[in-house]
Amino acid sequence: MAGTLIPDYVDAKKIFNQQATINGSLPVAGFTRFSELLANTSGIVEIKLEFLLDGEFRRVISGALKGDVQVLCQRCLESTTITLKDSFKLALVETESQADKLPADLEPWVCTDIKLVLADILEEQLILCMPIVSYHQENCAPTNRLILNAPETSTETSADKQDKPNPFAILQSLKEPR
Ligand SMILES: [Zn+2]
Repeated sequence: MAGTLIPDYVDAKKIFNQQATINGSLPVAGFTRFSELLANTSGIVEIKLEFLLDGEFRRVISGALKGDVQVLCQRCLESTTITLKDSFKLALVETESQADKLPADLEPWVCTDIKLVLADILEEQLILCMPIVSYHQENCAPTNRLILNAPETSTETSADKQDKPNPFAILQSLKEPR
């Protein structure tokens, strides 16, 4: 699919002064941590990022992403396609106190560098919009490796079988302060 090339990083000041918009698409396979949550790395993600300065001169990224990805159905443990679609609004902050002062509709994104790494932002947003569990929409047969009744703390899932990290642990680590 044709699209603007999405740079790995942009100038963390200029791009907001220019009120730039970046449109494009990236292969799922390029997002290593995100890929670990998926059944396979096929697919692409369509991305739109708008960079602006708000009334308080905060550097704000208004973004949207959309893409079909393959995940494991937690009933039959075969892969199924789900559509991820999300929008987000981030404000660049340099300190925790700046982050604390943000209005509720802005999520803080810590950036103390002149380089703003777009891939990191996109990967985190992709991980955050993943559903905790997914099932085939049509009926599928439960496997005998049924995990529906497993205790929540159980890690006895297909993910372990493939030696993948527990997605819950990844989500948890994302919530920890940087
Ligand atoms: Zn299924």
